[in-house]
Amino acid sequence: RAKSRGRGRWELFDDAMGAQVAEQLQLERDLHGALERGELRVHYQPIVSLQDSRIQGFEALVRWEHPEKGWIMPGDFILLAEETGQIHAIGQWMLHQACSQIRRWRESFDPQGALYVSVNVSAVEFARRDFVQRVLEALHATGLPPQRLKLEITESAAMADPERTQGQLKELQGHGIQFSLDDFGTGFSSLSHLLQLPIHTLKIDRSFVNEIDADGRKRHVLDTIVALARNLDIEVVAEGTETSGEVDCLSALNCHYAQGFYFSHALDQKAAEVMLSKQFDAGAERPE
Ligand code: C2E
Ligand code: MG
Ligand code: MG
Ligand code: MG
Repeated sequence: RAKSRGRGRWELFDDAMGAQVAEQLQLERDLHGALERGELRVHYQPIVSLQDSRIQGFEALVRWEHPEKGWIMPGDFILLAEETGQIHAIGQWMLHQACSQIRRWRESFDPQGALYVSVNVSAVEFARRDFVQRVLEALHATGLPPQRLKLEITESAAMADPERTQGQLKELQGHGIQFSLDDFGTGFSSLSHLLQLPIHTLKIDRSFVNEIDADGRKRHVLDTIVALARNLDIEVVAEGTETSGEVDCLSALNCHYAQGFYFSHALDQKAAEVMLSKQFDAGAERPE
């Protein structure tokens, strides 16, 4: 139809749109089977204590190593995976990979310790009736103690069906699994979630952490969130910590934990093991 109008701007517009749609469709085709072809990877970003900079746990983050396009980040394919339903297989795979990796790292580095893994769960996965079963199955299959698994949910995921969410979380909590509220501060009715859901950890969105040392108002907001969490017996992780100025500021505000490029990017297995070796260098046996 555009062509019949001659070589006008509509045709250009259609071409540009067409190219974008074609690219999305190609990505969708490629994503189909990416898991089976072994193109997905798990990277691990340390979550550290602000008291001594020691690693307390890792957040598992998915990456796609595309054979032609190279590394593709989750922001560019998770939504697609949610729309196509592939998120269920991807999420289950992530859970298994992350649990089994942390089980092995605990064995090699810190058998009695509290090292944990934190796995993102999308709203779509959460909406499944068998979600609780799937999580328990992953723990059972990998042998990771439930106390060493945290699930990260966002406020929008919790909002989708608050009553069912509450039921699922409580059931999983009964098995010892803990929950983090991710990107805290960016969603809606944050405070009511804190009262209704069994939240163990708040992950403060990086927009509240970024340049906190240069912004007194931000510092007040963070100070208040930390105080609130402390009163509710909830731990706080500051996301997106990038500079020493931010770290100093967070420490002064008595924030417990941090995650961000200042400490480490998300690492592949080998690189994470180098960091773990440095921390736990008491001559424990090393993985080859
Ligand atoms: P998120 O859960 O909030 O994860 C933190 C994101 O911030 C990660 O991006 C991480 O690499 C990035 N980040 C960490 N430290 C810094 C920092 O100091 N500065 C900045 N600018 N960024 C930092 P990534 O890996 O690209 O993941 C983006 C989002 O994709 C995640 O946000 C999460 O919502 C989602 N995601 C990642 N993996 C999975 C997964 O396995 N399943 C699901 N459902 N979602 C996932
Ligand atoms: Mg997260
Ligand atoms: Mg986050
Ligand atoms: Mg985020």
